[in-house]
Amino acid sequence: MTGIDLATYAVQERSSAGRRIREAAPSARSEFQRDRDRIIHSTAFRRLEYKTQVFVNHEGDLFRTRLTHSIEVAQIARSIARRLKLNEDLAEAVALAHDLGHTPFGHAGQDELNHCMREYGGFEHNLQSLRVVDALEERYAAFKGLNLCFETREGILKHCAQEKARELGEVGLRFLNNKRPSLEAQITNLADEIAYNNHDVDDGLRSGLITIEQLSEVSIFASHLAEVRKQHAGLSERIQVHETVRSMIGTLVTDLIEQTEMNIAEQQIETLEAVRIAPRLAGFSNEMEAQQRELKKFLHKNLYRHYKVMRMSNKARRIISELFHAFIEDPRLLPPQFQLQAEENKPLAVSDYVAGMTDRYAIKEHRRLFAVEREY
Ligand code: MG
Repeated sequence: MTGIDLATYAVQERSSAGRRIREAAPSARSEFQRDRDRIIHSTAFRRLEYKTQVFVNHEGDLFRTRLTHSIEVAQIARSIARRLKLNEDLAEAVALAHDLGHTPFGHAGQDELNHCMREYGGFEHNLQSLRVVDALEERYAAFKGLNLCFETREGILKHCAQEKARELGEVGLRFLNNKRPSLEAQITNLADEIAYNNHDVDDGLRSGLITIEQLSEVSIFASHLAEVRKQHAGLSERIQVHETVRSMIGTLVTDLIEQTEMNIAEQQIETLEAVRIAPRLAGFSNEMEAQQRELKKFLHKNLYRHYKVMRMSNKARRIISELFHAFIEDPRLLPPQFQLQAEENKPLAVSDYVAGMTDRYAIKEHRRLFAVEREY
């Protein structure tokens, strides 16, 4: 919990850079557990249930949503953190918050909103996740946002352009000084990658958009599938896929732990400060890195660019763009609290409103604004 057993280079609660607004220490939980709890109780967290990455919510009940994705990332990040004697509570908090700033409709939504916002500084979901926890959540009497610890906030901010970093103060400094975040943040970032590559294989197969035969071109999938078939004869295809995905996750996690341990030893890392100034320590072996890249390339070409996915992405872009421009042209269409915000900064108010929508809310709102044949 509070980490007597943590590695010397882990984030220790007692040396945390703290919260922006000072608060009394929690009595029955750690500071990072408190962060996790605040994230789970936030509105943005609940909305993750109805936001998607590849498949849009109404396409089926079995596909991953951003909520189940975030829970999978937390599970993987915690396992890795525990094995490396890192701060598990911090890794969990970062994992659960990492996608809070995502727009509806996954990458298509993010790209379109970024495009709409190009004259006003752009839109970046990472920065938006930080904005959600720093400013947009309204739940506490004493502060805006969730007032999370510095280490949780730096973990949420995975990347950031220099000019933006300058506006962010302390949490943006590492992008200007070429420093790294904690190991907890680094491993959670890679846990995200492990989670989505593997669940996209699973969801892709379930949807029928990709097949086992196609995936057999990909070495990591092919070798694990062959092993599963060798070990168990006569398994149904469904179980073969589950076993293969399960074993790919296991292999990636183990590889990441071993390689990161080696990097830590090689660089003789003993303190958190050393983690911050060293080159990135968390990583896969070269071989595993190459296998991951091959899998990503496959998914990109065969799943994310599948014509059925492209059709939905195209619709998604249109919805985002039309909503954005309708509100920019006439902010009186915005709900009252966003109208107020728009008086100060119209593009930002519209971007916050659109980014906060779930997939189905965006579809509904689009209908409310554009459908003439029915009243909504
Ligand atoms: Mg993610």
